[in-house]
Amino acid sequence: MATTVETEEHEALRAAVAALGQRYGREYLARVAREGGHPDELWADAAKLGYLGVSLPEEYGGGGGGIAELSIVLEELGAAGCPLLMMVVSPAICGTVISRFGTDAQKQAWLPGLADGSRTMAFGITEPDAGSNSHRITTTARRDGDTWVLSGRKVFISGVDIADATLIVGRTEDARTGSLKPCLFIVPRDTPGFSRSVIDMELHAAEKQFELVLDEVRLPAEALVGDEDAGLLQLFAGLNPERIMTAAFAIGMGRYALAKAVDYAKTRQVWKEAIGTHQAIAHPLAAAHIELELARLMMQKAAHLYDAGDDMGAGEAANMAKYAAAEACVKAVDQSVHTLGGNGLTREYGLAALITASRVSRIAPVSREMILNFVSHQTLGLPKSY
Ligand SMILES: Cc1cc2nc3c(=O)[nH]c(=O)nc-3n(C[C@H](O)[C@H](O)[C@H](O)COP(=O)(O)OP(=O)(O)OC[C@H]3O[C@@H](n4cnc5c(N)ncnc54)[C@H](O)[C@@H]3O)c2cc1C
Repeated sequence: MATTVETEEHEALRAAVAALGQRYGREYLARVAREGGHPDELWADAAKLGYLGVSLPEEYGGGGGGIAELSIVLEELGAAGCPLLMMVVSPAICGTVISRFGTDAQKQAWLPGLADGSRTMAFGITEPDAGSNSHRITTTARRDGDTWVLSGRKVFISGVDIADATLIVGRTEDARTGSLKPCLFIVPRDTPGFSRSVIDMELHAAEKQFELVLDEVRLPAEALVGDEDAGLLQLFAGLNPERIMTAAFAIGMGRYALAKAVDYAKTRQVWKEAIGTHQAIAHPLAAAHIELELARLMMQKAAHLYDAGDDMGAGEAANMAKYAAAEACVKAVDQSVHTLGGNGLTREYGLAALITASRVSRIAPVSREMILNFVSHQTLGLPKSY
């Protein structure tokens, strides 16, 4: 894909990450997932080259860039067939929240490790009885002397087994009003009362999803990220990068599938010309390419606004980018599988697994419908049905 709106540094970063991605590729990730392992070698290499920490502050060992750079890294690894899902949660959400709102001690404790890849963090907001309605979450933190006691349940939380800690979104009671307000807590993996069970997903991925139980999890005062009153602000600061990174994940996957289909369409011949000669094959692939390019433009806009400090503007653009990228990805994967005929469903060609994988970005971290709701209400000013 031609890149026309990025700086030379961005283009160089794309090329360098693409080269790393090519060295690993889809087969590496597929093997790791099959063997029940994790992409540790790729994670370590990406970290060593400064890619995982590219958006984190320089004083903590990061690259001093922004989500624009981090999203380039994830997109290019995805386009090479080996995206690192934990980038969406570890540096993008948790790294951003801690660097923007954490205490000095939290920054010292976490940012160097998140930047050099030696530590990872998961992020848990979704709850079984709240789902898309995050106002309804009930994981609650109560104060007990100098400690916090956290109770609740979470579901579909990615990578909790490999993450050193999970950033848990809970609520605390406002001493003045009695109302519950969101707060973020760092919960180390082996904290007593913090248990997980793996959810059996139809996804061929190394990163697993977990149901979590927090049963009177006792945490020190310093587990609360930043200021108790800034919870909502912190949450939004983390959720915009999450949407932008999910867009990058989707665009990368769409590009990977499309490239496979284009290669195939150029060489597969069952009549006198290659199948790509037929417009019924060529046009949908061209349309998929256009839609991925458009989605990427919106992703770049969202990243630019976010990195420029415009959280409100970035919110709308990040939602739109996530929506556009997920839809473009689902379509690109669907058409790519179809282009390969029977081979689209063989393990050898490796595209069939992407049918399920591509749906993730339509559902998470916020579903297609919730983005349409957001745009209906916030952008168009239409009334709310719920
Ligand atoms: C692979 C994967 C990884 C994930 N990783 C994480 C993670 O690391 N951390 C985390 O916190 N969460 C994670 N999630 C959870 C994800 O964010 C949720 O699945 C998502 O927010 C949707 O919530 P739900 O599954 O409860 O669906 P529900 O909220 O039950 O929604 C079901 C359907 O109803 C629709 N719907 C709901 N309300 C409305 C409405 N008002 N108007 C129109 N339609 C509506 C939705 O669009 C959806 O199609 C992950 C999910 C997956 C699949």
